[in-house]
Amino acid sequence: MSGSDAGTSMIPALVQTIFREALEQGVAEIHAEPRPGRGVIRFREHGELREHTSLNPLTYSEFVNHMKALCAEQIVPDDPRLPQTGRLSLMIDESAEGPLEISLQTLPVHGGEKLLLRILQADSRDWTLDDLGFSAANLTLYREAIARPTGMIIHAGPTGSGKTTSLYAAVGALDLARKSATSVEWALERIIPDLNQHVVNRDIGGSFADSLRSIMRQSPDIVLVGKLEDTETVDLALGLAAGALVFGSIHTSDGASTLTRFTDMGMESFLVSSAVRLVCAQRLIRMLCDCKEPRPPTEAERLLIRQALGEGEPVDSLFRTVGCKSCNDGYGGLIGVQEIFIQDEEISALVVKGTSPGELRQVARRRGMRTLFQDAMTKVLEGKTTVEEALHRVPSE
Ligand SMILES: [Zn+2]
Repeated sequence: MSGSDAGTSMIPALVQTIFREALEQGVAEIHAEPRPGRGVIRFREHGELREHTSLNPLTYSEFVNHMKALCAEQIVPDDPRLPQTGRLSLMIDESAEGPLEISLQTLPVHGGEKLLLRILQADSRDWTLDDLGFSAANLTLYREAIARPTGMIIHAGPTGSGKTTSLYAAVGALDLARKSATSVEWALERIIPDLNQHVVNRDIGGSFADSLRSIMRQSPDIVLVGKLEDTETVDLALGLAAGALVFGSIHTSDGASTLTRFTDMGMESFLVSSAVRLVCAQRLIRMLCDCKEPRPPTEAERLLIRQALGEGEPVDSLFRTVGCKSCNDGYGGLIGVQEIFIQDEEISALVVKGTSPGELRQVARRRGMRTLFQDAMTKVLEGKTTVEEALHRVPSE
């Protein structure tokens, strides 16, 4: 048997192994990447990539071709020299739950093609607002804001901060059966019953703004705008928020800078001030596994936490990572850290006046906003995570 034949025949078994193990480990994102002299398959777990398999270059390119072939006609554009997008269904042996739905994105890179394979709904758990790690006070603020019929709710943060999961959880919390609810997205990451999910088809020249215009003609009550990136989309979404409840996500660090980002894009400040109701800035941090052990805080940690949360806060005990069979490194799962910026009348008036983000932030803090750092430090005190993890993932003040 030649090497090539051996490689080809083992590919389906390799694919089975990779996806079965991803399912078992709750992994939704798989990266396949060419490296000098080999190809690697990596899993994203708890936010970080971890090597799963190393393949010889021939097997790697056969794996890539096999995955693309599984997409059948559902891969566009035709030309593999361009980045391609596709969808495939994969039956995993011993899986009683039917085939896996997988999205595929290719990117030509030095040495070959990189693949991003995303298992749609890999996380069979339906995330609800209660699962996102909101503090009780923040959850109340959030629920109040989404109970209104109009206005814009924005989730802000870098890639991998859990914005999409939060948006889906928020929309899923609404009574969609009695509303006209539509989303516009680049790719389907989760399927929500009773939500009309529209995927922008870039390959035939579709754009977010064009899609949003069509959705506006469908008499929407609730609209989820995946990404508030370009000026036209932001302009349409702000206008839409006068008559519908609009959800969106953006790569900004916090609420105040989101509002000034919009005015910097050329949006009228009165429109921004009247449309945006709430901005939830967020990050994901790793949660301590149950194998954690209590330890006394150092003097520096005591000081850090008191500076963030106030002198009265007792800092008696923190937790250290231990590591067990189920977690390896002492962490298991992710939890959100949030900062809820509410645009009330006072903030709104300041936005119209063109107040700087720093000043808006100060006013919001005086009016009771708990910062990302404060929320993270509270989670440290509650034993949900460690000081190191919080300092690593959340901007300090
Ligand atoms: Zn553990």
